[in-house]
Amino acid sequence: MADLQDDRTAGGAQADTNVQPDTKDWTWTLQRRCLQCGFDARLAEAQTISGRTVELTAPWQEVLRRPDVARRPSPAVWSPLEYGCHVRDVCRVFEGRVRLMLDVDEPRFPDWDQDETALAERYGEQEPSTVAGELAESARQASAAFGRVGGDQWGRKGLRSNGSQFTVLTLGQYFLHDLAHHLIDVGVDELPQAWAPALPPHGESRGRGPDAAR
Ligand SMILES: [Zn+2]
Repeated sequence: MADLQDDRTAGGAQADTNVQPDTKDWTWTLQRRCLQCGFDARLAEAQTISGRTVELTAPWQEVLRRPDVARRPSPAVWSPLEYGCHVRDVCRVFEGRVRLMLDVDEPRFPDWDQDETALAERYGEQEPSTVAGELAESARQASAAFGRVGGDQWGRKGLRSNGSQFTVLTLGQYFLHDLAHHLIDVGVDELPQAWAPALPPHGESRGRGPDAAR
């Protein structure tokens, strides 16, 4: 899935012919629960975002030790290694955005094209153990950034390149959903405890749609 789809620019020069760029706007996840992963971002309270960042990234240490970590389940779906690289970079981007929102009044976020980044950084060829260490560190930094937010700062605003507006709180909620969703993308079904209140009722589909490929 995309977390920042509207930040992308059209078509990389070296397009991956297998993986369709995710062009959907995922900001709806701030208005209702995601039925693909069960996470309801609206329920994430400000004070929990820092801790949940750690919880929702911890499973990657095990994921990145899988023997087949670099294998794509199908040509059009990122491998767990590629997803791991992406989550590492998502943490870096969101940490930067939080700091920017605290330092500057209503900043416009720098563009970040996640599909171009995946190609340019050769996600699929990175060393899994290195990625695991980098992901743990970037998650720690993002957690710390949200942990430093206090009081009125949660209401500070920032703008994406398409003009859609976030507060520090909604950015954090959006971020947590992204982390949760990517665990489902790589088949982590035993979800961190903190997720439990957001799970769908028993029997409700949590199946992956085609748009969950990313
Ligand atoms: Zn989701």
